[in-house]
Amino acid sequence: MNQRNNHRLVLFPLPFQGHMNPMLQLGRILYTRGFSITILHTNFNAPDPSSHPHFAFRSIANGLDRSEASTLDIPRLVSLLNARCASPFEECLREMMPSPGVDAVPVACLISDQLFSFMCGVAERLKVRALVLRTGGAASLYVYTILPVLKEKGYVPTDGSRSEEAVKEFPPLLVRDIPVVDSQKPEMMFRLFDNLVKVVKSSTGVIFNTFEELEHPALTSLREVLSVPVFPIGPFHKCCVTSSSSSLLAEDRSCISWLDEQPLKSVIYVSFGSSAAVSNAEILEIALGLADSQQPFLLVVRPGSVGDPEWPEKSPSHFLKALEGRGKIVKWAPQVEVLAHPAVGAFWTHNGWNSTVESISEGVPMLCMPCFADQGVNARYVSDVWGVGVHLNGGLERENIARAIKRVLVEREGEETRQRALVLKEKASGCLTPGGSSYRGLDGLVNHILRCDSEDRLSALEVSVNLCN
Ligand code: UDP
Repeated sequence: MNQRNNHRLVLFPLPFQGHMNPMLQLGRILYTRGFSITILHTNFNAPDPSSHPHFAFRSIANGLDRSEASTLDIPRLVSLLNARCASPFEECLREMMPSPGVDAVPVACLISDQLFSFMCGVAERLKVRALVLRTGGAASLYVYTILPVLKEKGYVPTDGSRSEEAVKEFPPLLVRDIPVVDSQKPEMMFRLFDNLVKVVKSSTGVIFNTFEELEHPALTSLREVLSVPVFPIGPFHKCCVTSSSSSLLAEDRSCISWLDEQPLKSVIYVSFGSSAAVSNAEILEIALGLADSQQPFLLVVRPGSVGDPEWPEKSPSHFLKALEGRGKIVKWAPQVEVLAHPAVGAFWTHNGWNSTVESISEGVPMLCMPCFADQGVNARYVSDVWGVGVHLNGGLERENIARAIKRVLVEREGEETRQRALVLKEKASGCLTPGGSSYRGLDGLVNHILRCDSEDRLSALEVSVNLCN
């Protein structure tokens, strides 16, 4: 067990899987550097404390009713969480601030998800420093900063007619890659991204689950426009010595023993993350495309991710026969372990940022099918900048799918993509070794937190001395 350094960090994750995972991983990283960690979380999608025995947990009511909590309109859900969590969050944080004479590890710093727009105001009132965790990439954050320009130029909102047009202001982006989220009120979506940028700019610094070698140009641009310290210290999941799960759904580990029986680099792993969904017709085409590819596949079908909740159990027998033997379907997989398995040869992904970084870290080439938000930007970088994947162009249709899978997994045409993925994997692990960019970034972050805290303690001391005089 490491020595504690008498500084507590309060981490406040947004209650979605793709935000919870990196925040808990960050907690583990900073715990190994001596900090005490408290996870302050909403009672909606709460993490499991038993998986993280070294952390303290404090829960706040989010005040959402069942129908509000189950909306698929993400901007609306985030806006509701912001409205309902602000007061309970402030109250809880206030209770945690030690009063004079109380023997508790003092709160050195708050680290909040980027999408809680109230947290800088709260931090200022309670006189605690606030850092932000950016759970997406640097390039997509930069795109958020130029969204007003893209809007002014008429690229967004789009009716689809310009979707294949190049965005001259940000090559190699196409109009269809610009972040959008399905919302009944597009203005709410723009406000969400705008608030995110404001939160980052008014923070004491921003932490990224990325690394310099991957996103150097975007990180450089951000350093210029944000004017706050920037700490790329990823890939997070590779820095954690222990890999306790933070899955909100039960992981089906039977897929690991199934993978053990498959030939080396033969399996296409298919998962679209924790919130993307497909229709009945689409999942049928996906499954038939997988069958046609003649490759073994591991497919994640999350409850609620397919129109028909009984898929595939109640599917026609000819269809199930087509999948027989070569495929494994699970409701939720231990993804990090799956991607690291020697049998996995490619990842068909929606390009959520965590999935993208996890795939890069294992040298697994990607078949990209972005759905919303930052995924289009991530996928464009995967295919056109890093060259470690290909887009599923031409529609979600079985022949097309089978062709794309074979290309990325086995055919000569995909060989360079597979090689580049292995080279990038080396860079992803190199940056974490002593002297590497993320290793130095983490040193910088730890020093930043400790320096800010000692400045705060000094000025609090000066105030009390002045008051005594
Ligand atoms: N994940 C998992 N098992 C699954 C599917 C996803 O553990 O079957 C994890 C994955 O490893 C990643 C997270 O869920 O850490 C999904 O985050 P991402 O940013 O990729 O996408 P989002 O869910 O936010 O759309």
